[in-house]
Amino acid sequence: RAKSSDDQQICLYDKGMDDTIRKRRQLVDELRLAIQGDQLELHYQVQMNVPNETVAGYEALVRWNHPTKGMLPPNVFIPLAEQTGLIVMLGEWVLRTACHEAASWSSGLPVSVNLSPAQLTTPNFVEQVQDILLESGLAPQRLELEVTETTFIADQKKAISVLERLKALGISISVDDFGTGYSSLAMLRAFPFDKIKLDKSLIDDIDNNYKSKGVFRAVLSLGDALSVPILAEGVENKEQLAFLLEHGCQLVQGYYYGKPEPFSAPGKVTFVEPDKKKIS
Ligand code: C2E
Ligand code: MG
Ligand code: MG
Ligand code: MG
Repeated sequence: RAKSSDDQQICLYDKGMDDTIRKRRQLVDELRLAIQGDQLELHYQVQMNVPNETVAGYEALVRWNHPTKGMLPPNVFIPLAEQTGLIVMLGEWVLRTACHEAASWSSGLPVSVNLSPAQLTTPNFVEQVQDILLESGLAPQRLELEVTETTFIADQKKAISVLERLKALGISISVDDFGTGYSSLAMLRAFPFDKIKLDKSLIDDIDNNYKSKGVFRAVLSLGDALSVPILAEGVENKEQLAFLLEHGCQLVQGYYYGKPEPFSAPGKVTFVEPDKKKIS
């Protein structure tokens, strides 16, 4: 529908904006229903302890099985959930589901769950976590919560106190996407972390870029100095793995070892217990 006059072009532009807003609103409504209904699911990605080739645990990653759009990745709806406050409900669903599913794994391996900043400052968050652990029967030592640096920008004091209460329950805390934020070093000093997850962007060209190598070595020695283990995210090939191992990084997560995949409860068709999966 080609239009020639300027007026009509402005009209078209406005209509486009309208469309965007309408579509966004619709997606928000659909997401609310998806959380309350059964359209969300968790996929799990393996975390390897490389030197002895054992599974260290699994990270739970949420997907939205949308009725018409198919399986949507989190980058399509997590930001939307965060902007609209739906993240609190979504996050609670993720935590509950991950704890229940992990409680049924015969391996007894730990599960990592991503937290959005808003969850941590939800009133009674610690009690909520405690309740979910109790009802699912998952030992707190098997739960790892992943937080990002943005969590600490808003209210440091509050965040520290919540993390400390979670740790007192036996839960461990990882800092996710390390190296992508703004206050990494100050934050490492102030917060009680049990693990640092190094962002994929710092791993990507590690096998052929001397600057990436340098940054990586520096972070490893930082981990060493703080006695906090480093996990490398997004490892895709042998060359990267070789470099990591050579420098003493033992924990690895990435497509090289496996993509996130669904864990289905017994009774469903595609039963593959992730911890029983052969790692090669
Ligand atoms: P993340 O927590 O850093 O999770 C790792 C992401 O990197 C996952 O993407 C994973 O599939 C991807 N990945 C892992 N290894 C590789 C690799 O070798 N190559 C490549 N190209 N990608 C790799 P995913 O599942 O799309 O999740 C994206 C982000 O969405 C997560 O990043 C996390 O920040 C967020 N997210 C996912 N699930 C949840 C959730 O339940 N709650 C919250 N708040 N955020 C979530
Ligand atoms: Mg994560
Ligand atoms: Mg990450
Ligand atoms: Mg992340």
